[in-house]
Amino acid sequence: APVLLWFREDLRLGDNPALAAALETGRPVTALYLFDDASPDLRPLGAASKWWLSYSLKALAEDCAALGLPFALRRGGAATAIPKAAKDAGAAQLIWNRRYEAAEAKLDDEVQARLERAGVEVATFNGRLLHEPWEVTSKAGTPLKVFSPFWRACQAKGEPPPPLPRPTKRAVAAGPALDGLAIDDLAMEPSTPDWAGGLRDAWTPGEAGAREAVAEFIDEGLRGYARDRDRPDRPSTSRMSPHLRFGEVSPRQLWHAVEAAKAEGAAPGQDVEKFRSELGWREFSYHLLHQHPDFATRNVQPRFDAFPWAKPDPEQMRAWHKGLTGYPIVDAGMRQLWTTGWMHNRVRMICASFLIKDLLVDWREGEAWFWDTLVDADPANNAASWQWVAGCGADAAPYFRVFNPILQGEKFDPDGVYVKTFVPELKDVPTRYVHKPWEATEIELRAAGVTLGQDYPHPIIDHARARDRALAAFDRLPPRE
Ligand code: FAD
Repeated sequence: APVLLWFREDLRLGDNPALAAALETGRPVTALYLFDDASPDLRPLGAASKWWLSYSLKALAEDCAALGLPFALRRGGAATAIPKAAKDAGAAQLIWNRRYEAAEAKLDDEVQARLERAGVEVATFNGRLLHEPWEVTSKAGTPLKVFSPFWRACQAKGEPPPPLPRPTKRAVAAGPALDGLAIDDLAMEPSTPDWAGGLRDAWTPGEAGAREAVAEFIDEGLRGYARDRDRPDRPSTSRMSPHLRFGEVSPRQLWHAVEAAKAEGAAPGQDVEKFRSELGWREFSYHLLHQHPDFATRNVQPRFDAFPWAKPDPEQMRAWHKGLTGYPIVDAGMRQLWTTGWMHNRVRMICASFLIKDLLVDWREGEAWFWDTLVDADPANNAASWQWVAGCGADAAPYFRVFNPILQGEKFDPDGVYVKTFVPELKDVPTRYVHKPWEATEIELRAAGVTLGQDYPHPIIDHARARDRALAAFDRLPPRE
């Protein structure tokens, strides 16, 4: 009897443990993706993620076809739709890679129980992380709350095993074809208005796109990564985050790809170690998600629960969303997000700090905006990072750390190249004012073709005063337990 392979957040054929296991059975295999917008409690994907998913699924469907693996797309709640698909395929076994969000994991347990009651075997694998969140512990066997000991514990486990090879056509026995939907039936791409032009220009979703991006990063970005990763004006980071989010590449593949680059002398050890430790932060986010299932909505530190957040002012929120705050580095970041679905990590921190500390808006408002607009919107990384900036997370920035958008801009975008790319109104402003155009004289601004308040906004809030207000409010927090 055939095996049904259920693709989820592992939209790749290479290093896919569930696919490899399905093929190893020697039985005919059929693959399925279920678009589940019906199960209660699952967080709906944001708009940018849906855009990505539609392209990633198209790529996966083509890759499966090239391999001779029947692939079907269906829609519905997994608790009933998966057992039904198993029945339609006459499957004796279902195989998938595990998920770590609480609602998804619970749903998977329910699906597994139903299948097993119907006499269908289930096998599950880790295709998403270097280590299972529950396998990394302190010496006393407890979960970890601070990154450094967490990462040491991961490293003590030794090298992750080498990635599994991409299967060949010969290894595939085709299972029955299932009826299903066309990807366009899901209408995941925007139409009126079509806001996705910038996304299409910036990205190639899918496993082949991920592979190309890795090769490019190894050729051009990895050497110098440790020094340059904080520079939004340089193409120095891997931009792997959406590919990792949808499982078009595995962390294990990246781990070994940078190791191979080191062995060939293409990158120094410090750059490779730094890059791996960023993969470590991703692992740590999943470790935290496992400990705090309601991570995206609840402060890890309960002492923040009574914090007097400001009621979001609609005009200020609009200015933040659209990149019209009058602080050029914030505006460049928010516009990069809006047009390309991605933002550089340093600038994410600056924009998040501005919302939380300068505007005193609850971090959950920002988390939700990023969830909707990021192509890499990730259930673990997004919540962990927002809680980190707010100071309410596990191993978080201290609450009194308030990013100064002017100094941060001057330090990490010293020539204003990043700002000028995304805030073209400021392209002729002299570099020394590009992060604080209000300090230029009117004559200088006029020469640059800018009238503040017309072509580019005055700052919507005075940073020095906003900082004092934030510190006063955060100082009243109860002590950490
Ligand atoms: P690289 O520097 O090339 O790093 C390689 C990979 O390591 C990344 O793809 C990512 O998977 C992981 N990584 C890097 N930095 C971090 C980090 N700080 N925390 C966790 N993992 C990291 N990342 C997401 O993947 N999804 C999100 O939704 C997300 N939301 C964020 C929100 C805020 C407010 C902040 C400050 C950060 C957020 N991050 C998020 C983390 C980080 O900004 C991105 O992972 C990174 O910018 C992705 O770019 P890259 O792939 O070029 O990173």
